Amino acid sequence: MEKEELKQRCLDAIDENRDLIIQLGDDVYKTPELGYKEFKTTERMIKAFQEIGEEPETEIAYTGCKVSTPKKGNTRIAVIGELDCIQCKEHPDSTPEGNVHACGHHAQLADLYGCAIGLLRSGVMKELGGAVDFIAIPAEECVDYDYRDSLIRENKISFYGGKQEYLKRGGFDDVDMALQCHMMEIGNGRHCTIDTDCNGFVTKTVTFIGEAAHAGFAPHEGINALNMAELALNNIHALRETFQEKEKVRVSAIITEGGDLVNVVPAVVKMQIMVRAFTIDGMLDASKKVNRALKAGALAIGGKVEIDDKIGYLPMNTNRELSTLYKENMIEYTGAEKDSFVELYETAGSTDLGDLSQIMPCMHIWTEGITGGLHSKDYRLADPELAYIVPAKMMALTIIDLLYDNAKKAKQILDNFKPTLTKESYLELKKEHSKLVVFDGSEL
Ligand SMILES: [Zn+2]
Ligand SMILES: [Zn+2]
Repeated sequence: MEKEELKQRCLDAIDENRDLIIQLGDDVYKTPELGYKEFKTTERMIKAFQEIGEEPETEIAYTGCKVSTPKKGNTRIAVIGELDCIQCKEHPDSTPEGNVHACGHHAQLADLYGCAIGLLRSGVMKELGGAVDFIAIPAEECVDYDYRDSLIRENKISFYGGKQEYLKRGGFDDVDMALQCHMMEIGNGRHCTIDTDCNGFVTKTVTFIGEAAHAGFAPHEGINALNMAELALNNIHALRETFQEKEKVRVSAIITEGGDLVNVVPAVVKMQIMVRAFTIDGMLDASKKVNRALKAGALAIGGKVEIDDKIGYLPMNTNRELSTLYKENMIEYTGAEKDSFVELYETAGSTDLGDLSQIMPCMHIWTEGITGGLHSKDYRLADPELAYIVPAKMMALTIIDLLYDNAKKAKQILDNFKPTLTKESYLELKKEHSKLVVFDGSEL
């Protein structure tokens, strides 16, 4: 069968099931759950897959589920939708805890489902030279550390990010490339961003340890942990001029425990820090400097600091060849003008698709159908056709392009791709740079 005929069948299948796809997106929106807590959302996805006659594999990365087509040839493509929400208490649709889909993951799931319907219900898979995994994956937002640390202690997960966890469990072992979308307000008459590159980050849980003393009678007998933290913050600010523009370094810090009683010299002060940069080297360099700043704070006051470093997400380098196929389908099948795209979109935000993009070709498109800022109280679904249906169609058409003619295009992209890491060197990198650093400034 001609490629164009396969594509038309796929588009027809999505159009015929439009209501199912929209209902799924709208239902998921109503039960927002944070990462690794997406039990209801996973259940809803399982039900959705069952409605189209598929029995998904479940608990794939603690939560989450997946439908796989049988092995065919040597090429397997993953389509990914994320299950978790974010918190934004000011958002009118948020739950009492503040949970809300203000990152559009509900639209991603509708898109994943629509893509599955297009490829599976149309019968086009039997004409293609490869296989597809439809993956509903947990925990993209890197938040809620205490809960995730408790899961790590109980050996239920190893990593904060759902894709990291799934990668470690072997979920991507036979996958060759991955496709994903996020939804945001694009504006200026543009439809979507074609290439997205973004920062990676290191997280630090920092504990300054001093000694308590009466703040009035005998502050000279204390070792003030809050002063250590304050100096450390100033040290970090003094380092900012050393960060190179091209690295888009962001160092964000909060004090999570700042002392107990005002008339006692604070003995323990805790901070959380996120260090972001555009390359892996940039991340590690900035992280090392921040550790120096933290140690210098402890040293000046003669106290201790413990820095629990964890490599968060790696920078994302999207694959230009994959996103070009998506763009060409937008032009051909939605009538989008050639110049109605944001060709390159570089941000200092982060996603765990970044980790995967260092290992295999990954596509990440930011697409339209939304108004308001990401993670903000204004984020709204403006048009289900644009946020749910169009990306589902374009993703499915891109897969047909990749797998048609014995997966010729997919093989070509794989031949051109040079991974920076393998699964093994990735896990090694995470291990090497995720450790507890202890510095005792009282010895000097
Ligand atoms: Zn987000
Ligand atoms: Zn997101």
